[in-house]
Amino acid sequence: MRAEEKNQRIYDMIVIGGGPAGYTAALYAARAGLSILLLERLAAGGQMALTHQIDNYPGFAEGIDGYTLAENMKKQAERFGAISQNAEVKRVDLAATPKVVEAGDQTYYGKTVVLATGADPRPLGVAGEGDLIGRGVAYCAACDGMFYRGKTVVVVGGGDTAVSDALLLSRLAERVILVHRRDRFRATRIYQEALARAENVELRLNSRVIELLHEGRVTGVRLQEIPTGRESTLSCDGVFVSVGRIPATAFLGGALALDEGGYVIAGEDTKTSIPGVYAVGDLRTKHLRQVVTAVADGAMAAHAAEEYLAENA
Ligand code: NAP
Repeated sequence: MRAEEKNQRIYDMIVIGGGPAGYTAALYAARAGLSILLLERLAAGGQMALTHQIDNYPGFAEGIDGYTLAENMKKQAERFGAISQNAEVKRVDLAATPKVVEAGDQTYYGKTVVLATGADPRPLGVAGEGDLIGRGVAYCAACDGMFYRGKTVVVVGGGDTAVSDALLLSRLAERVILVHRRDRFRATRIYQEALARAENVELRLNSRVIELLHEGRVTGVRLQEIPTGRESTLSCDGVFVSVGRIPATAFLGGALALDEGGYVIAGEDTKTSIPGVYAVGDLRTKHLRQVVTAVADGAMAAHAAEEYLAENA
């Protein structure tokens, strides 16, 4: 049955995902007088809310914690009339008119849809990993680091997240071992320089974790040196997996074109292959995934949606 027949409200814009990109789209669209519903699975901020200290978002001379920044973005969008609800979107019909968004037992209708669901942590893919989450396996140093005060932790990965996680953990744990599969880090220089100064961080390069050792909870890891195949074990209390992220697109059900990494294909204008549907933030194909580029996407999507609504009134 169509939305009109069901007497259901049709929003000008439904935003799926409440990270910085989603809340900025909501803010700009609400200020332009559009009716907005923003659906967020858990809490405002997405990945940003898990970031202990953000030093590269302009305007905060001393930096700001991600949770506070997220709450402020939410309040700011709501001040101009955006409505936020906690609901996990399971299915969409983006080609329909109006567009259909299903979350739980609710169906919502929007003239435009902004996809802002970001990306989830990529698992290491080692046996038993899922069962050991919360028992020594963790994906967020800012959230779980405090449980490892004075302990030994392994961090896996070689990007900005892995190196910044190792640095954060070096201030809490007694010993940090950073395991990376190559001999070179992908992380930016500023992080690598700080890493070189961190006295309690050891590197295991050209190595991968092939087994999680456990007795109820993690007790260590088995490592394999990649060039030689030589194996060794390391005792540790925790393993922080920081090997990148997987874009959260399962709910799209193949409705949109994705690149080989699973990101929704969209340019700087955030327009996807379906008119009136925009992809913003970490979900979209782009070179630099940062809070500052996510918020820029949000503004672009609101602008594009305004134009679309004017043309398709
Ligand atoms: P990333 O840049 O994709 O790096 C992932 C790392 O994990 C790479 O070093 C990769 O190794 C390794 N890896 C991938 N799969 C693996 C596997 N199965 N086993 C072992 N290692 C594996 O991801 P990220 O570090 O999460 O960063 C994502 C984005 O967020 C980036 O654009 C980054 O700049 C940004 N970010 C920025 C900041 C900041 O500036 N404050 C902080 C965090 C993240 P290879 O190098 O061999 O491919």
